[in-house]
Amino acid sequence: MLKPAQLFFDFQAGIRGSLAERALERPAYVEEDTPCTASAEPCVSGRDEALTESCRSLLLGLGLDGAAGLVHALWNPRMRSTAGYARYPAWKIELNPRLREFEGQVERTLRHELAHLVAYHRAGRRRIEPHGAEWRQACTDLGIPDETACHRLPLPRREVRRRLTYSCAFCGLIVHRVKKFRRHTACRECCSKHNRGRYDSRYRFVLLSDAGK
Ligand SMILES: [Zn+2]
Ligand SMILES: [Zn+2]
Repeated sequence: MLKPAQLFFDFQAGIRGSLAERALERPAYVEEDTPCTASAEPCVSGRDEALTESCRSLLLGLGLDGAAGLVHALWNPRMRSTAGYARYPAWKIELNPRLREFEGQVERTLRHELAHLVAYHRAGRRRIEPHGAEWRQACTDLGIPDETACHRLPLPRREVRRRLTYSCAFCGLIVHRVKKFRRHTACRECCSKHNRGRYDSRYRFVLLSDAGK
C-alpha cells in the first residue's frame, strides 16, 4: 500500500518557494473522470455483478478468499480517457464502458486492475512500484503474463497509450491516464468526502510513473 505520508513528502519536495505559492493560487480542479458520484457514500449501487463475479473467481483461484469477499467492480460511464481504476484497500475496480467496444479489452483491463490490488495486498505495508515486480507477478498469476503498463488501449476513439499512472496520496486510488492532467487535479471521492466537493491539494493526484519516458 502506498503510504500517504511518503507521497506527500514527494509532492512537497517538487514545489518550492514562490512556485509553491503560485501553484496554490492557480485554478484547481477536481477530476472530471470521476471514480464515483459526488456522494460521500461508497458507490455500491453501481456494482456490476458479472464483473464482480469474474474478480471473485480469479481471487478464489489464487487462494485469496478474504479478498474475494470484498472485491467489487463496476462500470463508470463518466470515464473518458481513463481505462480503469483500482482502489486499495477498498478492493474496488471501475472500468470505462467503452472498453466493451473492443474485443478482449474488458477482461484484460479487469485483470490489469485486479493485479494492482493483488500486488498491494501481497506487499502488505511495504511500498511497491505500481507496475513493478509484484504487479507483474500478479499479472502472471491472473493469466496475463504479457501485460505491460503501457499496454495499447483503444480509447477514446483511436488507439492510444495509457502510459501515465497517478495516485491519490490520500486514499491510494490508482488512475491510468492517456494524457497528463493539465491542471492541478484532485481525487473527487476524497474531495467529496472530506472537503464538500471542493479542490484541496491534500487530495491531489501524484504522478507515479510515466511509461512513455
Ligand atoms: Zn496499471
Ligand atoms: Zn482519494
